[in-house]
Amino acid sequence: MTDDETTTYAYLCIGCPLGCRLEVDEDDQGDIIEIRGSSCRKGDRYAKQEHTDPRRNVTTTVAISGGIWPRLPVKTNGEIPKDQVLEACEELRRVRVQAPVKMGDVVLDNLLGTGCAVIATRDMPAID
Ligand code: SF4
Repeated sequence: MTDDETTTYAYLCIGCPLGCRLEVDEDDQGDIIEIRGSSCRKGDRYAKQEHTDPRRNVTTTVAISGGIWPRLPVKTNGEIPKDQVLEACEELRRVRVQAPVKMGDVVLDNLLGTGCAVIATRDMPAID
């Protein structure tokens, strides 16, 4: 919704199963005027973060050689900017690691310069 000075953006809080519907009013300078709809402070923080700097964890798989399975499940050890998620997945599509791998091993450090590492989320023994 938009009037002359204020634009309202809608978000769905994912902080808990209640799923509060959040609204953020922004003035014509891009500053947040008001946040509505949250049932707790966590929702206010989420709305502000999602509105100004949305971030996501990346969970996917990478290729692995010599393991008992052909793909290794991995995830980032923190959230990266949402607009870099697609590029991150493309970067990870080019990664191939060698078994054995232990859960928590770093597969790729400083993903796209975000400061986040990509880590293995399970052990992957080598084929005997
Ligand atoms: S605002 Fe609070 S109560 Fe509502 S969904 Fe988010 S975390 Fe849950």
